[in-house]
Amino acid sequence: MPKSLTIAIDGHSSTGKSTLAKELAKALGYIYVDSGAMYRAVALFALRNQWVSAAAGCQEDKINQSLPDVQISFELDAQGANATHLNGERVEEEIRTMEVSNVVSHVAKLVPVRRHLVALQQAMGRDGGVVMDGRDIGTVVFPNAELKIFMTASDQVRAERRQQELAAKGQHWTVAEVLENLQSRDKADMERADSPLIAALDARTLDNSEITKAEQFDLVLAWVKELEA
Ligand code: C5P
Repeated sequence: MPKSLTIAIDGHSSTGKSTLAKELAKALGYIYVDSGAMYRAVALFALRNQWVSAAAGCQEDKINQSLPDVQISFELDAQGANATHLNGERVEEEIRTMEVSNVVSHVAKLVPVRRHLVALQQAMGRDGGVVMDGRDIGTVVFPNAELKIFMTASDQVRAERRQQELAAKGQHWTVAEVLENLQSRDKADMERADSPLIAALDARTLDNSEITKAEQFDLVLAWVKELEA
């Protein structure tokens, strides 16, 4: 029996972390946890209550106090995909809109929000055999993960990929608008005081600007096989 690993995938926005994480989890029979979806769900909750806006930032106390009322779960849908639920309601599509992307980093810098979500993430991955992607998985959530990957790609490549992804869902934004969102989220994520986005010292950097998804998958699978042995 190969060992069940904990695989932490961090990196810049729209570098394909969740695509890789999902594929790996499927191939290895591991659990997949999208930690960004959890921050997005809290951001959506705050947005619906008008406690956050892109321009004005957030009403910290209201959000922090409401955390016990924010239940986040992942449930398999009819297609076998993990769908994010907020207080029992499927919000998988709504959390991926630009409206949520534009405010999520405000919410993700709140310390009580991070503490709350990190505890849930640690419980979800407690038994190993997990692939989790986010910004602080290898540094804070699972500092002892056997495999840590830090993903990056050029700004232009990331913005174009994301713009196409959104367009395919009927959400039409220009590459420049998407680029602005990616850059401002990365800046906020890297500059926040609590658990900033940074590569763990023992992370393997993966720049996928010029490699295909298949090449990337083969490379990472080879890393996994090396560690499972
Ligand atoms: O991964 P995704 O782009 O969906 O994450 C949305 C946002 O959630 C990020 O821009 C970041 O602000 C926040 N996040 C975080 N820590 C994580 C995962 C996501 O701060 N572990």
